[in-house]
Amino acid sequence: MLSCEPILLEGFSVNSDSTQSVSAKSANPRNTAVVGKSAAVIGAGFGGLALAIRLQSAGIATTLVEGRDKPGGRGYFWEKDGFTFDAGPTVITDPPCLEELWALSGHKLSDDVELMPVMPFYRLHWADGTHFDYSNDAKGMASEIARVAPGDHEGYARFLDYSAGVYEQGYVKLGAKPFLNFSTMIKAAPALAKYQAWRSVYSMVSSFIKSEKLREALSFHTLLVGGNPMTTSAIYALIHKLEKDGGVWWAKGGTNRLIAGMVRHFERIGGTVRLGDPVTRIASLGDRVTGLECKSGWKASFDAVATNADLMHSYRDLLGDNARGKRQAKALAKKRFSPGLFVVHFGLKGTWPGIPHHMILFGPRYKGLLDDIYEHGVLPEDFSIYMHHPTVSDPSMAPEGMSTFYALVPVAHLGKLPVDWAEIGPVLEKRILDEVGRRLIPDIHSRIVTKFHYAPSDFAADLNAHLGSAFSLEPILTQSAWFRAHNRDDVIGNLYFVGAGTHPGAGIPGVVGSAKATAGLMLEDLGAK
Ligand SMILES: Cc1cc2nc3c(=O)[nH]c(=O)nc-3n(C[C@H](O)[C@H](O)[C@H](O)COP(=O)(O)OP(=O)(O)OC[C@H]3O[C@@H](n4cnc5c(N)ncnc54)[C@H](O)[C@@H]3O)c2cc1C
Repeated sequence: MLSCEPILLEGFSVNSDSTQSVSAKSANPRNTAVVGKSAAVIGAGFGGLALAIRLQSAGIATTLVEGRDKPGGRGYFWEKDGFTFDAGPTVITDPPCLEELWALSGHKLSDDVELMPVMPFYRLHWADGTHFDYSNDAKGMASEIARVAPGDHEGYARFLDYSAGVYEQGYVKLGAKPFLNFSTMIKAAPALAKYQAWRSVYSMVSSFIKSEKLREALSFHTLLVGGNPMTTSAIYALIHKLEKDGGVWWAKGGTNRLIAGMVRHFERIGGTVRLGDPVTRIASLGDRVTGLECKSGWKASFDAVATNADLMHSYRDLLGDNARGKRQAKALAKKRFSPGLFVVHFGLKGTWPGIPHHMILFGPRYKGLLDDIYEHGVLPEDFSIYMHHPTVSDPSMAPEGMSTFYALVPVAHLGKLPVDWAEIGPVLEKRILDEVGRRLIPDIHSRIVTKFHYAPSDFAADLNAHLGSAFSLEPILTQSAWFRAHNRDDVIGNLYFVGAGTHPGAGIPGVVGSAKATAGLMLEDLGAK
């Protein structure tokens, strides 16, 4: 539950003046605003934090306003019975996109956060007992392919070339570019055509690979950003190259330490963080926003406002008294939203050096299961589980001799599956733990020290996530780039968006890229560029 009082959390400063309307400059006494301009960012998810750092680094007096008691958004965390449980992202890719945020002001990410490589990237485990260790080690991959998919060596080499091509076009060239006009989309069209962007990742992988297991191994990644491998544009095959070149990393102490490092860095350069005080209204006058109002009664005026909060929540609830807010909310209601997630967090007595940091336990069905989640909106009998086991890399996440895990399954969002999660949650939690027990830890139930689950209804309640979606708009071609929410509103010239609902989309590198695109626009508009 959210507190309505602003909260001061270890190391995080907040402005606790909750009664007066103040200007951003007086709310920001430590800022040395080079350009005399102020901005607010609503929401301290990865995208909001990255944008706030970029703005503050350029001399814009920036205030970050977060509704929850801790920053992080999907990257929130809990501490229970000596265990640390990261709520969301666990796979960190493309560290340079994060390092840039420190380098902007001459600092180093390594001063605040220790990143550790993870190997293998993932162990993929099928119901028939076969496994495949997936990594960027060429020899290791060759021997895994020889074992699990003999005959697909040449096809894999061709897939790698394809993935490298879409990575260059889709991530390096366009990943941090705002798509404000259709003409930008037209310019990107030849590349989209060259890489057959209308095909799905699974279909494109299948054009190179014969083995069903290897097809799954090379296409499941879209699920990490909310996309169905069967319908998500083949452009997302770029993730393979992104991981191959940049590796898969872990932040020592958990993803929450990366978030804490970003907050520390933002405050170090003069930014202001306000926690535990949800924004209730973006004040506007015609086609300009003028400031914010929070639940506590705190108000402030700003030259520009960016929102990292859910798109629907931002337009419908925060900008609801402006005609633009109402119109956009209506348009958003017709879009496809990515599914929800059901996550079981558990701390166990004992350690499992044989269970790698990241595992996918594929169920007996691949396409059929995806159809149930994305199309039919039923709760299937079977599931594919992503297992997170941080203590194998970082024992500091649990008391000595104990282990921290989470087991995550995608489930249909609340619009497709309007069940009572308070009732279904405990049942699904037990089924997931039983399955982990059957496949990996036979005496799991007797080893549990602590456990709890997080359902789509919690995403909706805690994060204002529309339909409890875990990743905002589904990343299909017709909801990507120019078709996604624009980084600057088309009508309200000083209202901006950042995060999973905007281009390029969900995932840490995606939302950090969106912050770069949004910051570019804001700095230009505010005259700081
Ligand atoms: C379980 C899970 C696992 C994932 N695993 C990975 C992974 O391994 N690797 C990876 O790269 N990505 C992963 N992702 C995706 C990634 O975490 C998200 O795409 C990304 O973190 C979203 O960031 P965001 O900037 O869009 O903000 P969000 O994290 O959505 O944060 C938005 C913030 O806005 C705040 N807010 C909302 N309304 C208000 C309001 N009215 N006033 C003030 N604040 C408000 C919210 O409280 C929240 O803090 C995962 C996601 C989930 C859910």
